[in-house]
Amino acid sequence: MNRVITILLVVLLPATSAAEVRVFACEPEWAALSVEIGQDKVSSFSATTALQDPHYIQARPSLIAKVRRADLVICSGAQLEIGWLPALLQKANNRTVLPGNDGYMEASAFVLRLDATADVDRARGDIHPQGNPHIQTDPRNILIVASALAERLSLLDPGNATDYAANLDRFAIRWEEAIVRWETTAESLRGTRAITHHKSWVYLEQWLGIEEVANLEAVPGLPPTATHLSRLTTQFHDGGADFIIRSPYQDNRPSNWLAERTGINAVMLPLTVGGTEDATDLFALFDDIVSRLLEAQGDD
Ligand SMILES: [Zn+2]
Repeated sequence: MNRVITILLVVLLPATSAAEVRVFACEPEWAALSVEIGQDKVSSFSATTALQDPHYIQARPSLIAKVRRADLVICSGAQLEIGWLPALLQKANNRTVLPGNDGYMEASAFVLRLDATADVDRARGDIHPQGNPHIQTDPRNILIVASALAERLSLLDPGNATDYAANLDRFAIRWEEAIVRWETTAESLRGTRAITHHKSWVYLEQWLGIEEVANLEAVPGLPPTATHLSRLTTQFHDGGADFIIRSPYQDNRPSNWLAERTGINAVMLPLTVGGTEDATDLFALFDDIVSRLLEAQGDD
């Protein structure tokens, strides 16, 4: 009897345990993109939530365990995760996902990085020394990374390469249609001016034609100071900007303080999937970003 059960298990197991590429994403947008491109061939996990600052999280033991079992680690890169990812990779002891191997990819390596100038001020705490890592706020970047991701999944899991290519094609058609829709809807934002809490939105601004006129952080990564905020109050006391933008995990007090003194609208935008109740997937993320900006513009 036992023998029969053993034989049955051997026969049945391969059919019931679906081959699956385990994706460890550093940020929710890459976990969401992995599902768009991998569908049922991947399982994806995000190390951070949209309510956390991806620059700063703890390298918790549960995350180390996830990296140890991962087939692919996908992160924004450009030093966004420098405070925690190297420790995770080192402790996980999984060669497949080490930088330089097929199981590791940095999304920012595939796109044109903004703010990549030579005059970064590391000494003063600038946390974007390799250019701006928040590339996901331009949907055109998402499509570039989608294509690189499909290629990488095919490399790791050649048996399902046709599926990854087909999923990418389907995603690209829907995504390109959505980009046209967002650009049309957001046309009135062209030429508006934004003050942002952190330099999280430079890609969105370039895409939609919004001019960034100031940041609440005097240097990327350093919290807004009273001196800097008071300087901004003087600079923008009679307007000069249309929005003060922050992300869900950022303190709302500096935005609100400046908004009260200048009359400029403070607006919270989801930086990634899950940042607001409406931003449930990548499509909904950009729907929500555009709609929140238009709503804030309408409040003038
Ligand atoms: Zn940053």
